[in-house]
Amino acid sequence: MDETGNDADPNTPDRESSEETDDDQPDRDNFGTDLDDVVLDDIDTGEDGATDEASRGLFDDLLSGEPIFENKEVLRPSYTPHKLPHREEQINNIATILVSALRGDTPSNILIYGKTGTGKTASAKFVSEELETTSQKYEVPCMVEYINCEVTDTQYRVLAQLANKFIEQNRTYIGDRIEELDTLRERATSNPDGDLLAETDFATVDEIDAEIERLEADRAEFEEVPMTGWPTDRVYSSFFDAVDYHERVVVIMLDEIDKLVEKSGDDTLYNLSRMNSELERSRVSIMGISNDLKFTDFLDPRVKSSLGEEEIVFPPYDATQLRDILDHRSDVAFKSDALTDDVIPLCAAFAAQEHGDARRALDLLRTAGELAERDQTDCVEEDHVRQAQEKIELDRVVEVVRTLPTQSKIVLFAIILLEKNGVHNINTGEVFNIYKRLCEEIDADVLTQRRVTDLISELDMLGIVNAVVVSKGRYGRTKEISLSVPIDETEAVLLSDSRLGDIEDVQPFVQARFDN
Ligand code: ADP
Ligand code: MG
Repeated sequence: MDETGNDADPNTPDRESSEETDDDQPDRDNFGTDLDDVVLDDIDTGEDGATDEASRGLFDDLLSGEPIFENKEVLRPSYTPHKLPHREEQINNIATILVSALRGDTPSNILIYGKTGTGKTASAKFVSEELETTSQKYEVPCMVEYINCEVTDTQYRVLAQLANKFIEQNRTYIGDRIEELDTLRERATSNPDGDLLAETDFATVDEIDAEIERLEADRAEFEEVPMTGWPTDRVYSSFFDAVDYHERVVVIMLDEIDKLVEKSGDDTLYNLSRMNSELERSRVSIMGISNDLKFTDFLDPRVKSSLGEEEIVFPPYDATQLRDILDHRSDVAFKSDALTDDVIPLCAAFAAQEHGDARRALDLLRTAGELAERDQTDCVEEDHVRQAQEKIELDRVVEVVRTLPTQSKIVLFAIILLEKNGVHNINTGEVFNIYKRLCEEIDADVLTQRRVTDLISELDMLGIVNAVVVSKGRYGRTKEISLSVPIDETEAVLLSDSRLGDIEDVQPFVQARFDN
């Protein structure tokens, strides 16, 4: 059963597609994939110098065996494209709001909404890079800080991360300033008769020295915030002081902001959104990005109105738009003529069904390319896309099932056992009976039938089972449950869990159904 435990498969594109965390994870997994294809038998290990020959042959094979991809990196989620077709309007809207920062004014706070894969992160990063470049060009002090709240998901960690970034930035700022003053000082001392200082804030060289000393003292005082351990108000004031150290406009981008609110409430947003009234030198503007359209329902009304000063919606892409996006990327990603004509339209069509998700479209295209590579063909065909679609779907299921809590796994296992024994239209009571016996077998707590019903609803929402309420006339209503995922693969994943794997013989459990 372990061979079918696909969760160990190193080639799981869905992990990358899951969310933004991939930015800083170079994808080691895929080396595994490529090396799988090495046919070691072909290597001649016979005579003298054979090892040399052999190792060269090994890599030669791999290199020459790449007729498909020119540059696979550009299909990965970590790649930030410089061109974002069909997002011109949204990008312009964001830029129009943020341009105030370049005039030294505080931009309105912005909330960006849209489903996953609609280009929110890519567009926001694109705009912020442009903003920083332009601010350097015109020497306007303006900074953008990006935080992924799926990773940094508590108020402490958000504030600590921001504080440390600004402290680091202040150190650089002080360093630059001291350098300037040193030069000025040198010129003033080597040319005491000149009127060098007239145009500066300093009347004498001593005053310059005093200023340098003051800056050095400031720099020595900065204390980095540890990742745990301080009281939150101390972290907050470190952050506050660091931001306010010198004049500038700061845009704080909180990506996946709904995850932060879900995990830690809206205190962070409350604190950030009222900072401006207390800051003396700098100004802060917040750009929140959310996959969840309704997340503001959970916010304090004051936070909600402050954060949502400007709202920008990213609609899903349709199939034609996805096709354009893929066309652009594939030019760079694939060798010419590596794609047959129907590959991109099919990837686009599949992803359009998946709520217009560009990430899914790119995943499909990359996976299809990898499958073609494995087949050792020179070109990607429609069928590779279909296989890729199945593979991605299965990988998703495997990942969801693998990370279920134990209790849900037991419930799901009970449903699988019933289906495997030919039971159709399974009802909650039947699931519960098998569930109870499984729990006893592995010494797990037995939840109430009501809780089990809830767990079944959760499995339904995850798309793992389908539970429909059917009316039984005057006998009331019941749920009819069926599995929505491939049974063997799912069972294998469940059995790879060490607790469930302990279940010796599953046959007797099903008997339980008839015992009751
Ligand atoms: P979101 O943040 O809305 O979930 P992303 O910005 O992460 O979506 O986009 C998902 C993937 O699709 C990324 O790899 C991104 O580069 C790509 N992408 C999204 N929109 C476009 C576009 N208009 N043009 C090119 N690539 C895009
Ligand atoms: Mg995103």
